[in-house]
Amino acid sequence: MIAEVLAVGTELLMGQISNTNAQYISSRLPEAGIGVYYHGVVGDNPQRLRDCLDIALHRSDIIIMTGGLGPTQDDLTKETVAQAFGRKLVLHQESLDKLKAFFERVNRPMTENNIKQAYFPENSTIITNNNGTAPGCLIESEGKVLIMLPGPPSEMKPMFEEFVMPYFKEKLDYKIVSRFLRIFGIGESAMETQLMHMIESQTNPTIAPYAKEGEVTLRVTARCAKDASGDELIEPVIEEIKRRLGDAVYSTHDENLDEVAAKLLMKKNVTIALAESCTGGLIASRFTDIPGISSILNRGFVTYSNQAKMENLGVKLETLQSFGAVSKETAEEMAVGARRVSGTHIAVSVTGIAGPGGGTEEKPVGTVFIALADRNGVQSKKLQLWGNRSRIRNLTALHVFDMIRKWALQQDNG
Ligand code: ATP
Ligand code: MG
Repeated sequence: MIAEVLAVGTELLMGQISNTNAQYISSRLPEAGIGVYYHGVVGDNPQRLRDCLDIALHRSDIIIMTGGLGPTQDDLTKETVAQAFGRKLVLHQESLDKLKAFFERVNRPMTENNIKQAYFPENSTIITNNNGTAPGCLIESEGKVLIMLPGPPSEMKPMFEEFVMPYFKEKLDYKIVSRFLRIFGIGESAMETQLMHMIESQTNPTIAPYAKEGEVTLRVTARCAKDASGDELIEPVIEEIKRRLGDAVYSTHDENLDEVAAKLLMKKNVTIALAESCTGGLIASRFTDIPGISSILNRGFVTYSNQAKMENLGVKLETLQSFGAVSKETAEEMAVGARRVSGTHIAVSVTGIAGPGGGTEEKPVGTVFIALADRNGVQSKKLQLWGNRSRIRNLTALHVFDMIRKWALQQDNG
């Protein structure tokens, strides 16, 4: 089955909004056993929309359209689709009643053009919209399936989940299950080398790597009987990947590195303080996104200047003068100081050169030191990162979360 997503809307072509609907739909359909082969975008123009539809009907079995179902003049998806299928638009009384009830409820007069939203191509199945006024619909014709959904993602997504996914899953005699492994600290090419043979020889489940900034995600996808969980196929493969990549695999359930690090600390009630220079609070911000973090996160310092490093963390002037603010020694004193001032079990610190300026031959842009202090002392690490300011800051934060994660795992082991 070849599927195509066709988004309608001039604002998409103008670059005013991005086509997140196509991305969402494409990311969900594989779970229903459907491969998306084409994405189309077309403006609110009946002739060009018709051309796109003709092409889509020619090359694809399933066409999922979004946008242009609303009440206004430029909303012409249903009219054009009806024409392409040689069907009339007919009134769907139930939709009209709902529309009237909606306008009564919000105490607004229903204008004439709103009635348009209750008209659908003959013999189509109506898809209820519980979050907006424009219902969607589905047409089955000569082995093809065409689905129309409204443009706003807040309306499209629930309709897609409640109607479209079950519709396709029902037709399948198997199901597709995916698990996502998250990996840090091993480059994509190194990982591929270690897993090459597995990636190439696996047919069920299949393994697919995706690179993100500084991280790699592995998708393990199995095709299994509808009443099975897929675990019996997927688990052995996950175990083998973990065996090959070791503790670089930080999650087998698609969690973020910050979440994994925080959960390990929360589980053991390990309190933490943060001392950040070049990340400027990024680590604190990521941590405070996590519900329940207040049980372990004591405080974060943004000590950008030497003065702040000395005043807030007790970094010695001598250290700053002999080794510089971006040095192993300063990072270590920052972590030790943050821990002492806060009275926490551990503290982590960051100091580095995020660029674009500030680099020297000895310490180029991307030179970063991170440290972790605990009751036994302090450990630190030098990072040599590349890329722009935002990439360097993001990667630094990931390295810090990974340092925390590995520290916590070590406590478990010893
Ligand atoms: P409405 O009843 O709101 O008019 P509609 O089905 O007619 O819905 P459009 O008018 O095409 O949809 O788009 C409405 C809004 O939905 C857009 O302004 C945009 O914010 C969002 N939208 C439309 N298409 C997409 C898309 N492909 N991806 C993400 N957002 C979209
Ligand atoms: Mg509209």
